[in-house]
Order: sequence, then structure tokens, then C-alpha cells
Amino acid sequence: MEFKKCERCGCFYLSDNSVCENCIPKDNKEINQLKNFFEASNEIDSINSICINTGISEKNINRYLQNPEFSKFANNISNNNIGNITLG
Ligand SMILES: [Zn+2]
Repeated sequence: MEFKKCERCGCFYLSDNSVCENCIPKDNKEINQLKNFFEASNEIDSINSICINTGISEKNINRYLQNPEFSKFANNISNNNIGNITLG
């Protein structure tokens, strides 16, 4: 356990999670949304399109894609798209 800053709301908390306790349900909800979106979509061309279709912020999508469970989907999203998004 370490002292961390919540990735969602910025508050400090003590936990192994990447977000605080208040934000865990929000994360879980969005992760489910993301799963459903990946299952329903044959082709995902960019993080931006995930953002538009799910309403999840790009920042959070990027964070969820670090999750090993999403790694195969993250690999499908071409590197150039991820690069473009970083550049805005
Ligand atoms: Zn939080």
C-alpha cells in the first residue's frame, strides 16, 4: 500500500488501486462500458472514436488500456492513432 493521488478526482488516498474509493465504482462502470464497446465493435480505429462512442474521456481510456485485460484491443488500435491523440 502506498499513498497515491487519485487519477480521476485528484484526492489523496491510501490504496493499491489507481483511483480512490469514491472513484472505483465510476472506473468499474466505464471499464464495463469499454468491454461492451470492444465486444460490439469489429474495428476500432482510434481512441478518439472510443471516446465519442462511450463518452469516456481519452485520459481514462488510455488508463484502462494499460490494463492487461485490454492489451489485445490496445494492440489493435494502431500506433499512429495513439500518437495523433497525444499530439491533439
Ligand atoms: Zn477519486
